[in-house]
Amino acid sequence: MARVARPAPALAEAGEAPLTRLPGVGPRVAEKLAARGLLTLQDLWLQLPRQYEDRTRLTPIRALQASVAAQVEGVVEAVDRGFRYRPMLRVALGDDSRATLVLRFFHFRAAQVAQFAPGVRVRAYGTPRPGQHGLEIVHPSYRVLDDDGGALGDSLDPVYPAIEGIGPAALRKLIGLALDRLPDETALELLPRAWLADLGLPPLREALRVVHRPPQGSDVAALLAGTHPAQRRLALEELLAHHLSLRRQRIALQQHRATPLAGPGLLAQRLLDALPFALTGAQQRVYAQARADLAQPRPMLRLVQGDVGSGKTVVAALAALLAVEAGKQAALMAPTELLAEQHFNNLRGWLEPLGVRVAWLAGKVTGKARSQALADVAGGGAPVVVGTHALMQEGVAFHDLALAIVDEQHRFGVHQRLALRDKGVLRQMEDDRLERVVPHQLVMTATPIPRTLAMAAYADLDVSAIDELPPGRTPVQTVAVSAERRPELVERIRKACAEGRQAYWVCTLIDDSDEVVAQAAQSTFEALSAALPGLRVGLVHGRMKAADKQATMRAFKEGALDLLVATTVIEVGVDVPNASLMIVENAERLGLAQLHQLRGRVGRGSAASSCVLLYQPPLSLLARQRLEVMRETNDGFVIAEKDLALRGPGELLGTRQTGLPGFRLADLARDADLLPAVHALADRLLAERPELVDAVIVRWVGGAARYASA
Ligand code: ADP
Ligand code: MG
Repeated sequence: MARVARPAPALAEAGEAPLTRLPGVGPRVAEKLAARGLLTLQDLWLQLPRQYEDRTRLTPIRALQASVAAQVEGVVEAVDRGFRYRPMLRVALGDDSRATLVLRFFHFRAAQVAQFAPGVRVRAYGTPRPGQHGLEIVHPSYRVLDDDGGALGDSLDPVYPAIEGIGPAALRKLIGLALDRLPDETALELLPRAWLADLGLPPLREALRVVHRPPQGSDVAALLAGTHPAQRRLALEELLAHHLSLRRQRIALQQHRATPLAGPGLLAQRLLDALPFALTGAQQRVYAQARADLAQPRPMLRLVQGDVGSGKTVVAALAALLAVEAGKQAALMAPTELLAEQHFNNLRGWLEPLGVRVAWLAGKVTGKARSQALADVAGGGAPVVVGTHALMQEGVAFHDLALAIVDEQHRFGVHQRLALRDKGVLRQMEDDRLERVVPHQLVMTATPIPRTLAMAAYADLDVSAIDELPPGRTPVQTVAVSAERRPELVERIRKACAEGRQAYWVCTLIDDSDEVVAQAAQSTFEALSAALPGLRVGLVHGRMKAADKQATMRAFKEGALDLLVATTVIEVGVDVPNASLMIVENAERLGLAQLHQLRGRVGRGSAASSCVLLYQPPLSLLARQRLEVMRETNDGFVIAEKDLALRGPGELLGTRQTGLPGFRLADLARDADLLPAVHALADRLLAERPELVDAVIVRWVGGAARYASA
């Protein structure tokens, strides 16, 4: 564990003061705050608003737009208290623009109902969405006004992440009290002032005050867009903290030894000679990069980005053979059992003819087979091991693991990557010291991200790209079709299956609760089974038992099913070359990365494949642009760049995809232009002021804890 440097004394006094110092914070409130990791004044300063409510102006009801938050004022025209499926209150509000807006409540008290007498003047704030009778706002924040109205707010109201048991107003007040205790600028600032001057960004103290309490006359548009200099100043420091944290992990890991795998590569050459294809230029380049790393006495930490089908597995196999040649072991891990099994079969097919044994270890391997596999791994009888996460669990001891290969990295967290380190062995050095020798790490991901982002997201890894597909692939033909034309697709499926092909029907929904999506998949399954009586139809969704899911996937893979109705659980890596048609429902709801992943399930064989993106009109501009990108290109790197340019919030680099923790304020896509400055600051800090590094990390990242729970 790294030693944690104490910040400057003045800051220590102010920032580290416990929250119970604040008036009104007793043990009960403190406990609720602590449950969200808020322990000190500094934690509250950095509890940053991600959004603002603009109550500085009123929007005429007629001018409201779906999905654009706004404040309206009007008179109650009608009240309807109904019980359709659950209690509901609808209040129709009209204003001078002669339009009506519905305020809809699912939870309400009798007193609230009484408030909304017809004729009463109400001011409401929220995000309208299309309802049965025009736009409506569900659970708006609202206020009943006196006859003479009320003054408008003179600035933006910050919106903080909700904390259970503490209302928004109380939370704003608490944060305000904490801000009143901000120390002066020199005590607060961790970064040398001169370094920041060139960037034209305000000092931290000023940035915090502006972001929490936008002064009158602030640039409202910039604050709402998250591009105000105050927000950029905070994003810069937050990105810097995360970057430093990853860099430090990398430095720490590279201080360990690894076994140099610097042999002549004869086994790998034998595999190359036996393959029915030649490596693409990109595969050769990435293999050469990995080989150069593996020859070093420090652990390789390399990420290979490669689009679906770019041929990452064979590069992994070649690297594994370098370990085998040196008399060591290599392990290959995949996020699901089915994927692991796919790798196992591939590797066995390639390596066993060379006399290299491949062991198989997954959750379902039990009893005798399991103890045999464990013994092979521990005794070194199996130089190559393939499995799921189970490989990293305790109880699995390696004889001499020199290389760990992790596939589809985004399903693994950073912490799991770190756990690999502990699979190393203690070895006696020439001078009799015992030293831990850790495995080299090769991480493979099929979710390409733009280069600038890769540097930020994977600052602890070197990044290579297999940016070329093997020759002879026909690109998947993609069309976007309105959901009204759903019935035509049934015919299309019938035709494809009559030709001996297989098809996927992917259900996604507005509501992303597992349960609702599972229900939708279930009813689609029933409808399609009824409409296509001659076909064998299967169903997989996230609510099924893992074993049932695997069995259905396997049946589809073996050709025992013609059509697979699925939720997005099929997203990752499954290879069914005979599947040539995919239909994705509600495609307008999905981000580009996810659409691309899904589409990658077809076009894996020799047949021309197609992908139909069904959408629910009307399309938003953003959704239309996304579908356009999908129609135009099959190149994951191009799609990633477009995604960065286009995306809606949270779609590009979610926690799920990278294992990165969520940011408080920074947004890698929006703030991408800050990254060069972040890298430069990080280099300079590590070189010139290493004593400040810990304080920056602790302030924003809070030590390793957030990674562990990411
Ligand atoms: P991914 O990068 O998505 O993991 P795979 O490693 O599964 O891709 O490779 C996809 C398919 O392409 C496999 O059937 C593999 O054998 C084949 N393949 C890999 N490299 C080449 C190549 N250079 N030429 C032709 N086919 C290749
Ligand atoms: Mg793969």
